Amino acid sequence: MKKNNWSYMGSSGPMFWGGMCSDFMISDIGEEQSPIDIEESEVCDCNDKVNFHYTEDQFTIVIENHTFRLYPSKAKSQYLVFNEVSYKLDHIHAHIPSEHTLNHRYFSMEWHFVHKNARGNILVLAVWGNVEDEGKECFSDISGKLSRKETSVLLNPNDMISKHSNIFTYRGSLTTPPTSEGVTWLILRDIQPMNLKSHLFYSCFLKNNCRPIQKLNHRKVKKI
Ligand SMILES: [Zn+2]
Repeated sequence: MKKNNWSYMGSSGPMFWGGMCSDFMISDIGEEQSPIDIEESEVCDCNDKVNFHYTEDQFTIVIENHTFRLYPSKAKSQYLVFNEVSYKLDHIHAHIPSEHTLNHRYFSMEWHFVHKNARGNILVLAVWGNVEDEGKECFSDISGKLSRKETSVLLNPNDMISKHSNIFTYRGSLTTPPTSEGVTWLILRDIQPMNLKSHLFYSCFLKNNCRPIQKLNHRKVKKI
C-alpha cells in the first residue's frame, strides 16, 4: 500500500497505519504515541515556562487530503519560547473532533500550531475549540477565503490563545503517519468557545480526521 494512502477509515485507517510500511511501524510499537486522554486529577505541577510571540500575519492556505494548512509569511517572525528554547511556527492545521481528550471528554475541534526549533525538534501547541451558545467565529476570516478558493488570509494567532490559561505538557508523537515520537506537546487548558456556524464550516473540510486515544504508558502529564 502506498504511503500517502493512509486515511481515518477502514483498511487504511489508524488501526492499520503501523503495518502500511516500515516508516509507519512506530505507530504500533511506540510507547510515546499521541493523542492521549488527560486525566486532570493525575496531572502534576511543574516549573516549565512558555512565552508566545505571535503577531498578525498573512498566512498561505494549502488544502490537503485530510486537513488544510496555514503557513505564516517569511516576512514576520512567529514563534514561542519553551524553557528558553525558541520554536518557530511552521504551520497551523486542525482536527474534528478533538484528538486529545480531557477527563475522557472530546471537544468539537482541536487546532495544532506546529513549531520547530533550530535542531529540528517539533513542538505542537494544541488549542481545543468547543461549540457553545455564546461562542465566537474562530479565525472567521478563513471561512470565506477557503470557500472562494483564495490562497492567503490575514490572521493573528493570538486570537486563539488565552494568555493566562494553564497549559498541559507531555512527550508524545505526531498524530498522523509516520507518527514520529520526540514531539513536545503543549495543550491549552482554556477551551475556546466557538459558534455552530464556524464548526459547520470547518466540518466541510475536516471529516473525522481524529486519531484514537493512545496509551499513556510510563508518561506523566504536567501542568504549567
Ligand atoms: Zn494535527
